[in-house]
Amino acid sequence: MLGFVDLTEFIPGLHVELRYATARNFLGRPVYPSPRAWLREPVAARLAVVETSLRRQGWGLKVWDAFRPAAVQREMWRILPDPCFVAPPERGSRHTRGAAVDVTVVDLRTGLEGDMGTDFDDFSPLAASECPDLPAELQARRQWLRREMQAAGFSGIRSEWWHFDAVDWEQFPLVES
Ligand SMILES: [Zn+2]
Repeated sequence: MLGFVDLTEFIPGLHVELRYATARNFLGRPVYPSPRAWLREPVAARLAVVETSLRRQGWGLKVWDAFRPAAVQREMWRILPDPCFVAPPERGSRHTRGAAVDVTVVDLRTGLEGDMGTDFDDFSPLAASECPDLPAELQARRQWLRREMQAAGFSGIRSEWWHFDAVDWEQFPLVES
């Protein structure tokens, strides 16, 4: 796709586990045609900055979701029509612009995901990016990820600690096909 890059090629060593290409998602089945993660190139370049910064600290990013086809977004809304968690089709998702990414962190010594308090697509209050009910250590880890992403040009959202938008997401049009 024009203007998009494959994250695994663009950021060598990046951990990618596209959950919607597996059955480990709230739909319970694979809905992506391929396990390859795509983003707009300028957005991917910012993710590379975050990956470099985390590696200096012994961590890496793991990408759970990146570009999302419009048909998949419509299917998600049909199953979970809650605008806190799924963008209504008439508005479209920032994922469908290739300008949003869902990430967690991986401890490079063990290869294991850091404990962030919930799994991906946990549609509960515990998924809130600022969640005072969590142990202080987990709140601090979420804050650290948010700071790292913000420093590179992303902004988080209130309801999902793992979701980040490019701050200038509006300049990237929806991909309708
Ligand atoms: Zn997301």
